[in-house]
Amino acid sequence: MEIFDSKRLSRRALLRSATVLAGGAALGMRPAHASAGKPKLNPGMGQGRSVAVLGGGMAGLTAGWMLANAGYKVTVFEADSRYGGRSLTVRPSDPGYKRWWLTKYPEGNLFPGMYVSSYKEARGPNANVPQICNFVPTPWYKDGPQVELFLNAGPGRIPSDHKCLLDLCGEIGVALEPYTFQSNYNLLRSEKFNKGEPIAYNQVNYSLRGAIAAKLAEYENITNCDPNTPETSAMAHMLREFGDLSKKCEYDVSARRGFGKLPGGWNDGPPVVKEKIPLDDILKSGFVGGGNPELSPGSFLFNADNILWQNSLMQPIGGMDRIWQRLLVQKVPAASFERFANDIRKQPVPDRDGKIHLGDLVALNFAATGVTMNRDKVQITLNGGRAAYQADFCISTMAPQLLARVLSDQFSKDYKSALNEVRGQDEGEKKKDWVPAIKVGWQAKSRFWEQRNHIYGGISWTDDDIGQIWYPCEDFNAPTGVLTGAYNRGPVAEAFGNMPQADRITHALKGGNNLHPPKDTFSGFEKNVYADRGVTIAWQHMPNQQGGWTPVLGNSKPAVYKKIVEPQSSPADPSKARFFVAGDTYSWLPGWIEGSVTSAYEAVGALVMM
Ligand SMILES: Cc1cc2nc3c(=O)[nH]c(=O)nc-3n(C[C@H](O)[C@H](O)[C@H](O)COP(=O)(O)OP(=O)(O)OC[C@H]3O[C@@H](n4cnc5c(N)ncnc54)[C@H](O)[C@@H]3O)c2cc1C
Repeated sequence: MEIFDSKRLSRRALLRSATVLAGGAALGMRPAHASAGKPKLNPGMGQGRSVAVLGGGMAGLTAGWMLANAGYKVTVFEADSRYGGRSLTVRPSDPGYKRWWLTKYPEGNLFPGMYVSSYKEARGPNANVPQICNFVPTPWYKDGPQVELFLNAGPGRIPSDHKCLLDLCGEIGVALEPYTFQSNYNLLRSEKFNKGEPIAYNQVNYSLRGAIAAKLAEYENITNCDPNTPETSAMAHMLREFGDLSKKCEYDVSARRGFGKLPGGWNDGPPVVKEKIPLDDILKSGFVGGGNPELSPGSFLFNADNILWQNSLMQPIGGMDRIWQRLLVQKVPAASFERFANDIRKQPVPDRDGKIHLGDLVALNFAATGVTMNRDKVQITLNGGRAAYQADFCISTMAPQLLARVLSDQFSKDYKSALNEVRGQDEGEKKKDWVPAIKVGWQAKSRFWEQRNHIYGGISWTDDDIGQIWYPCEDFNAPTGVLTGAYNRGPVAEAFGNMPQADRITHALKGGNNLHPPKDTFSGFEKNVYADRGVTIAWQHMPNQQGGWTPVLGNSKPAVYKKIVEPQSSPADPSKARFFVAGDTYSWLPGWIEGSVTSAYEAVGALVMM
């Protein structure tokens, strides 16, 4: 996802935030101002007018759900054979596991494609080769329930600032649990530090803080950090707490660095605190800045200081796809269903209250291949003319360049060329806006990171091409679990995406082995995961996508951004907008579902005004 870079805030954004502060939010007195939020719609507003939604990802489904409940006829066209777009969670193809999953989440039986166990990339060396998730079903204990096995191949976490998405989860019944971004025992690894030996975060972090505090005390000529002497200055108090300094303002033994030998029973002897890392070693380590920002945004040691990770983070229990799955099963009025030419969907059967499900309104495997507008209607050509639909309005959630390719000349040249300015990954463009992004998933044979490293959730960082390893935040102490064994973006992800699947696996294993060498993992990372069953994905090669996400276009290409979010009307009736866009790319939060949801709210809000 897009990393929010506070240093790159535009002047305008800074001024805007300054205005907010001046308005009284300064000193943390008021909560940060959330986006405009969900528009309030009345059930009869739509009066049976129709809306075509292009794309069945989070933005399209959110918009479709709201409009159907507001009395519009809604059809969501999704080019792919699955729902969710970039919100892809893959699960084992094993039929027994699938049966177990469908018992646990029975609403998953409602629509085909709610359980995804394979996908194909569309370009690159693995084009059209099905990637099948072959995780091995494992019960918690003999005859016990299954350990939940999934890879969030796209999104995986929700920061607490993402209010609209969190509210939506509450409204549609998505159960959430904590997602740990950082635990003190997560590892850091760099070629520049101790010959590539990984080290726990706390050992480096608190060694650095101690060294900084001691240096500052020296600089300020403070020699007394004893909290019990009245003459100790406030500065000395602070430095002592900040760096865990001794009474003489020196930094030495500090349990903050973690234990080499944990405290135990009476026979164990005293615990042993980990050694202090000299400041010079830390400065040269590659953990504290100056690294490749594509691999280590901001630098490993300070990653958790980014505003995105400071607050509580959440994950839907059971996988990120639970959000769109719960959307699909929401009830909508039966009158919101409308057929189109060559529609092959089943006729939905309304319940006693005259309701059907949002999922009934989605037409999978229908790609918009042409969009034109006349005075009163938007006409959608589907699958190259094999089907068609005519609606009063349209909301597109397609990537800008993909959209430009299907718009007719009824849309202005300026609009289309602005869309084309958001360069995708799929045509070998020279200057790309969309960021390549890759992930790898491994099922582990044991939770060695919990048993050996005391790591329960969080992320370890490495300068290897895998970038990072995520540890599962669910099912602690289970006999198995799924590691996100690589998550990278930028040039490294581009190179990774261009490897055949077998090479991706070998490459990712090397990174895993380096971060969890044999002495820390019983017998090595490679032997502790199902090495031949890894799952990999390169978003730049996925069908109907142009990469992982774009940068904040409002900052990087302000004029383009302003143009592409403009509602469009037919030249025959410029007074009435009929065409709108939604999706994270068209928001100030690309790379985040919050951007998809807030932009969907805005598109819906603008549409209902027409
Ligand atoms: C690796 C990765 C990690 C991420 N991590 C996070 C995270 O931790 N938290 C978070 O909140 N977000 C994260 N994101 C971002 C998040 O996945 C997206 O913001 C969100 O899923 C986008 O939803 P959308 O509906 O806006 O777009 P999409 O999901 O891209 O939906 C667009 C849909 O349009 C369809 N489509 C395209 N062309 C056509 C056509 N011609 N006709 C019909 N349909 C078409 C596509 O198939 C797709 O389903 C991550 C993304 C990636 C790739």
